[in-house]
Amino acid sequence: LYDDFYVKSLIQTVEDWPKQGISFRDITPIFSDPKGMRMVVDAYVHRYISTNISHIACIDARGFLIAAVLAYELQKPLILVRKKGKLPGKTISQKYALEYGEAELEIQEGAVSAGDEVLLFDDLIATGGTLFAAIELLTKQGAKIKEVAAIIDLPDLGGSQKLRDSDIPVFSLCAYN
Ligand code: 5GP
Repeated sequence: LYDDFYVKSLIQTVEDWPKQGISFRDITPIFSDPKGMRMVVDAYVHRYISTNISHIACIDARGFLIAAVLAYELQKPLILVRKKGKLPGKTISQKYALEYGEAELEIQEGAVSAGDEVLLFDDLIATGGTLFAAIELLTKQGAKIKEVAAIIDLPDLGGSQKLRDSDIPVFSLCAYN
């Protein structure tokens, strides 16, 4: 059973990283705690096992770690949304603004197509810039976003609300105000 107190006891807050004024929520200890890892993955398995998602897309790099286990368990294709320059072959890319800085995401052409019902996963939702860039890449190729899932939501930064305002369902395991 998912235990919010337990998962939050694993997440560490690192002040002023990677920049002054940022409180970084470090989820690395979840990966190194087998009970925490299983609890987090199982929460998503439970939520998505009887839905009709066709694909799981995940964002470079922490998003990969949970989504890969989930895709294995749910037996769904896993689509990687990567930082620029990592994927071979024909790609499409999308620039976006970060909570700190600017970046660019890519997916391979043909990774998804019309009719696909995608669960999009990342570790954390802040401003939503990263997720909206990924959504642009996936929907440009005809896919529909069934839901965005994350471990952590930072509601004060507005991303999850912006997603809901765009009629994209959002599910997060925990939140920090
Ligand atoms: P956004 O684009 O929503 O502003 O920022 C979310 C992205 O930045 C996610 O891909 C996430 O991995 C990363 N990120 C931003 N802040 C944090 C944080 O405090 N902790 C973690 N683990 N990732 C963060």
